[in-house]
Amino acid sequence: MGGRVAGSISSFHAAREGLDVLMVEKNPEIGTPVQCAGGVSDTFFKSMKIKPLAQFTCSRIRGACIHAPSGASFLTDDPIIKGYIVERKIFDKYLAIRAAEQGTEIMLNTIAKDLIIKDGKVGGVIVKKDGQTFDICSDIVIAADGIQSKIARKAGLDTRFRVDEICSCAQSEMVGVNIKKEIMELYFGNRTAPGGYLWVFPKGEERANIGVGIRRRKWNAKSAQYYLKRFTSKLDATEIEFNIGAVPIGGPVKRTYTDGLMVVGDAAGQVDPLTGGGIHIAAECAKIAGEIASEAIEMGRADAEFLKRYEKRWYKRVGANIKRSLKYRKILNQLTDEDINKLVESLEGGELNLFSTSLLRFVKDYRNILRILKEIL
Ligand SMILES: Cc1cc2nc3c(=O)[nH]c(=O)nc-3n(C[C@H](O)[C@H](O)[C@H](O)COP(=O)(O)OP(=O)(O)OC[C@H]3O[C@@H](n4cnc5c(N)ncnc54)[C@H](O)[C@@H]3O)c2cc1C
Repeated sequence: MGGRVAGSISSFHAAREGLDVLMVEKNPEIGTPVQCAGGVSDTFFKSMKIKPLAQFTCSRIRGACIHAPSGASFLTDDPIIKGYIVERKIFDKYLAIRAAEQGTEIMLNTIAKDLIIKDGKVGGVIVKKDGQTFDICSDIVIAADGIQSKIARKAGLDTRFRVDEICSCAQSEMVGVNIKKEIMELYFGNRTAPGGYLWVFPKGEERANIGVGIRRRKWNAKSAQYYLKRFTSKLDATEIEFNIGAVPIGGPVKRTYTDGLMVVGDAAGQVDPLTGGGIHIAAECAKIAGEIASEAIEMGRADAEFLKRYEKRWYKRVGANIKRSLKYRKILNQLTDEDINKLVESLEGGELNLFSTSLLRFVKDYRNILRILKEIL
């Protein structure tokens, strides 16, 4: 259920292993509306064995410039940053085409409304299409229906995210932006993006995705759109697309499988809690879900005991990275603007590896960070 990164990649792998796969998407077109800045690392392309084709890559990324509230900044070219900015509409469609070419059937304009439960086990979905409601029976359901996922919840999995674990985002694609080629710009600070950051991702000549992700601590706090407009109104640039969205940044949900069902991608909270990037993690977990579905059906075992392998395998693949990012996020949450200024100033013009000696030197000299680290680690 769901036809974007997690849906298409799990479908691709399940179909490649010989299963009959149906991918259901509620929207009439794969990939729209866009709710993403399109940053995809080299690791994704390497691991998924997908070529970064010119048809969906807008620009190459070789580094990131980190800006502190004081205006101080430093450039990092850490290898984990290298990648591309993709045009999600085209990229998502490419992933769906790839799945279809392996034999996945795709049903658009179709909403998964509920699950069919047989003998206490998920046995398919109830969908609504063109005003008609009907049953689709299946051995396994993969819930890849994003942050607002309802499907896994209907199977009894707790996939709710706490409000403070959700990053609200607003983004404009703009033309006429003064950008540095191949460099992502990331702005931190309470006045710019409380609890998150503002990004400028170059998409081509003077064109960029400019977005803000914030965590709202009070219901009446200012919206992500407010912070975005505050930044973009100072630019002499024209907006050609606007979108809003949300990312779960509290780490994965407690359980990602049950009898006859696996949950994948944003729906499972499989997102990097530090950056909010979810494409590469969703893809890794979706690949595993597709493969496990095939193994389960071959063995005639779609029960929870067997599908537990999915959770074990994805956790082995990306669990440590998510855990580490969660720790960094907790540190970042506690930094004041003054802390961020000091941190960035200590790295300004220094060596370019984000998590190495410069950082350790800073931690040693700056007691507030030591205190925070003691509390968290
Ligand atoms: C503003 C913003 C910027 C981001 N930027 C980046 C970035 O630069 N890099 C990065 O790696 N990540 C980024 N992310 C995160 C990334 O977009 C997600 O992690 C990723 O798209 C998750 O993919 P998914 O397939 O799990 O879920 P989704 O992309 O949310 O796809 C879920 C699909 O399920 C469909 N669906 C939902 N309910 C139903 C239903 N009941 N029946 C049928 N279909 C249904 C939806 O229509 C949708 O197509 C960003 C997120 C936001 C909001």
